[in-house]
Amino acid sequence: MNMFYRSTRDSLKEVTAAQAIAQGISDEGGLFVPAFLPALTPDDFERLASADYNGRAVDILGRFLTDFTEAEIEQCVRGAYGGGKFDTENPASMHVLHDDVHILELWHGPTCAFKDMALQLLPHLLTRSVEKVSPGKTTAILVATSGDTGKAALEGFKDVEGTKVVVFYPGDGVSMLQKMQMVTQEGKNVRVFAISGNFDDAQTGVKKIFTDEKIKSTLAADNIQLSSANSINWGRLVPQIVYYVSAYCDLLASGRIAPGKKFNVVVPTGNFGNILAAYYAMRMGVPIAKLICASNKNKVLTDFINSGVYDRRRDFYVTASPSMDILISSNLERLLYELEDNDDKVITEYMAALRENGVYTVSDKCRERLQGLFYAGYLDDEGTFDVIRECFEKYHYLCDTHTAVAIGVYEQYAAQTGDTAVTVIASTASPYKFPTSVLGALGREARGDEFDRLYELNEVSGVKIPQSLAELKSKPVRFSDCCTPDSMAQSVVDYLLSKE
Ligand SMILES: *Cc1c(COP(=O)(O)O)cnc(C)c1O
Repeated sequence: MNMFYRSTRDSLKEVTAAQAIAQGISDEGGLFVPAFLPALTPDDFERLASADYNGRAVDILGRFLTDFTEAEIEQCVRGAYGGGKFDTENPASMHVLHDDVHILELWHGPTCAFKDMALQLLPHLLTRSVEKVSPGKTTAILVATSGDTGKAALEGFKDVEGTKVVVFYPGDGVSMLQKMQMVTQEGKNVRVFAISGNFDDAQTGVKKIFTDEKIKSTLAADNIQLSSANSINWGRLVPQIVYYVSAYCDLLASGRIAPGKKFNVVVPTGNFGNILAAYYAMRMGVPIAKLICASNKNKVLTDFINSGVYDRRRDFYVTASPSMDILISSNLERLLYELEDNDDKVITEYMAALRENGVYTVSDKCRERLQGLFYAGYLDDEGTFDVIRECFEKYHYLCDTHTAVAIGVYEQYAAQTGDTAVTVIASTASPYKFPTSVLGALGREARGDEFDRLYELNEVSGVKIPQSLAELKSKPVRFSDCCTPDSMAQSVVDYLLSKE
C-alpha cells in the first residue's frame, strides 16, 4: 500500500515521503505524519527475528518510504550502519541489567550518543529525497547545537555528495569533549563556528537565516537550498522506529519473551522524538504495554502527562543530563494529532496557545488516552548520581546521566505499580560522553582535564574508552572560527558560495 504523509496542522495536505523529508516541515508550520501505520503480524516478527539489523531496517523503512525502491533503501541502510561505523555488530544491542530488565544501548555509533542512529541514515534519505523532488540541487544543512546534535550531524553528513553542513555552537556553552569533537571534524563539506552567545542565540540566528528571503534567493541562484537536520524532520524519526522493532525481535530471538507477550519501554526524553518512535512501533504491532516517559528536573512532560496541562511558564534548569534540558518538546505535536483523532484545527489551536500564552490544556479524551498509554516521572541530579553509583555497585553496569534518569524513573514505576513485566530501557549516551558527572557520581574526584577523566573512568570501571573519544586529543583542530550572532548569516553565505 502506498504511504503518504499529512501535516498535523492541515490534514488535507498530502505529500510523499521524499517530499516530507526534503521539506522538513510543512509550509503552515505543521509536522509531517504518516497517513496510517503499517501493521506487523506475528509472522512478520518471526521472520524479522531471524534477520540482522540491516534486514529489519530495510523491511520497516520500506513500509514508510514507498516512493523509494528496495535497492535504494538497502543502499541507504548499508551506508548508515555498515563500514565499521558502529563498534558493535548490532548497532542497537541489548544488555541484560538484571532479571527481566534490559538496556537498549543506542550509542555505539561514531559520536557516542543515540542521535547517530538517525543522523547516520538521514543524509542518505535526504539526498535520495532531493534527487526525487528537486534533482541537481545542493542541500545546505544548518545546525544550531547545544552539543550532541551538531557532532552527530557533522559525522553523518561528512563527504556526502550534494550536501554541505554548517554548525554553530555556543562558544562557552559546550563541554570540552563536545567542543573537541566538533572542531576536529573531518570532511570536505563541513564548517563549524563558535558564536559569542548562548544556545538560544545560535538557534535564533539559524531560524533567521531560514526565513531570510534575500539569503534564500542568493543561494538559489547558485542552486543551493537550505534544510534542517533536527528531529522535526520525518527522516530523523523513521530510523528510530526500527530499533524498537529490532529490540522486540532480539527479545524473541533470545527467548527472553514469549511471542505476543507485552513489555514496557522506558525512554529518557527531551524533544519527544525517541519515545514517539516507540509509540509508533507499538501502533504497528510491537506488543508494548506501557511507555514510560522519564524527565530530569525540567519536568514539563511529567506534569503534562499527569495533568493534561502543558505549561512551559516555569524556570529552566541546567542539569547533569543536558540533552534533556528542554521546555518545548516539538514532537509531542505528532502524538497529540493521533490522540485528538487527526483534528488539525485542535492541534493548530494548542500550538498557537503555546506560542502566545506558553500553556494549553488538552481535551479530556486526549488526557485519558495519554494516561492509558504513558507513565511519566522525573529525577533530579542527586537522584541521577545515586542511580549511576547503585547501578555500578549492584550490577557492575556503567551508565551515563541520561540513561540513569530513565533507570531511576523505571524504579519509581516498578515500586509504585509492582509491575514486573519484561522491560527495555533506552540508553542514549555512552558514560564516556559525560566523564565528569559519572566520576563524581562514583565518588571520585575529577582531576585534570576531560581527557584525563576518560582514563580515570576507565581505571575505575574497566569499560573500554570509545576509540572516537580517545583519539580526539591527538587530532588537529580544523575550525577555530568565531562569529557574533549578527554575522552568522554572512558566514553561512560566504562559506556556501565559496567553491570549497
Ligand atoms: C537528544 C537526547 C535525548 C532526548 O531525546 P529526544 O528524542 O529529544 O526526546 C536524550 N538523551 C541524549 C543523550 C540525547 O542526546
